[in-house]
Amino acid sequence: MSSRADFKKFHRTVIKIGSRVICNDQGLALDRMRALAGQVDLLRRRGMEVVLVSSGAVAAGRKKLKAFAPANVKKKQALAAAGQVSLMSAWDKAFANHDVKVAQILLTADDLADRRRFMHAKNTVFTLLEMDVIPIINENDTVALDSLKFGDNDTLGSLIASLVEADLFICLTDLDGLYESDPRENPDAQLIGRVEKVNAALLAKAGREGRAPFGTGGMFAKVRAAGRLAERGVPSVIANGLTRGILPRLMDGEELGSFFKPSAKPRGARKHWLAFAARPKGKLIIDAGAAKAILEQGKSLLPKGVVSLEGLFAAGDPVVVVDARQGNEVGVGLVNYPSPEVQSIMGRPSHDIQEVLGYSHSDEVIHRDNLVIYESPAEN
Ligand code: GLU
Repeated sequence: MSSRADFKKFHRTVIKIGSRVICNDQGLALDRMRALAGQVDLLRRRGMEVVLVSSGAVAAGRKKLKAFAPANVKKKQALAAAGQVSLMSAWDKAFANHDVKVAQILLTADDLADRRRFMHAKNTVFTLLEMDVIPIINENDTVALDSLKFGDNDTLGSLIASLVEADLFICLTDLDGLYESDPRENPDAQLIGRVEKVNAALLAKAGREGRAPFGTGGMFAKVRAAGRLAERGVPSVIANGLTRGILPRLMDGEELGSFFKPSAKPRGARKHWLAFAARPKGKLIIDAGAAKAILEQGKSLLPKGVVSLEGLFAAGDPVVVVDARQGNEVGVGLVNYPSPEVQSIMGRPSHDIQEVLGYSHSDEVIHRDNLVIYESPAEN
């Protein structure tokens, strides 16, 4: 699927709604939430399954607790906890006007990093959709320390889109999309209507537009999220949630916002999870021969090519693969042996494994099927 004309055929979409869309200086903008609920209901009635990722907890909490001064992390977590109740209650009411039920799902990055919890989350979302309930997801700010966070709901939204096998990811913000230059500084800035591929130059462009008095993502996180989903084969649109009737208009194929074309060679769901949701437990440093084999020839990683390792990991854990030559991370994979055993077999030919360990699980330290190679920016 590579054009907006395909949108009409889609069945499932994840819509991320930024704080700037549903909040103003007064807290939650209920009229905007009502309008969006109406649009989502319209999509539903056309047969579309919709999952929402909604920000706005912190902004709502500020209003509720009259805490408008800049807040540290602890305070923001408290604001989110208080505001999440108002946020969901407002969504609940907005959708009740259309006789539509909603459910709240709060997730941390750790939940999606754990393959079993990831599957549980997926099952819950699918069950809700089957029951005709709209899941509304937000980051569980209360328990997520900074280092354990998705960082922003754009990243969370893109993982959810992959999780639920969405046909489309729509990221609603208060800008019309991605611009060639910052539209607030340059009134003639051109909107980029179609992005063929997210590369380093485009990300740099988006990075300059980041700003976040309410939300946390900025344009950089949105473009990065769209780029990751494109690799997964899912198209995205970044559009203005304040534009009248934006959702049905987008689904009708209207050229609004920035459309991100999906890759023609998409990555499977498990590899996408491995690349972007899994939390690596360690590192394998590999020599030039192994780097060539995995980067250029599409081979598995053998013990012979491993020169050293970092971290404590078990068999089946995700580990990062580092090229010893430049010290750069070249990929991530699921390792077949625990760290003490890798320590014993590294540098040796695979036929030694049985003798050294007393058993052999496989010839490879990481099998190709469980290995994701990062794209180098130079190729982009
Ligand atoms: N979880 C935060 C909130 O609901 C927002 C994070 C974001 O905007 O990216 O307020």
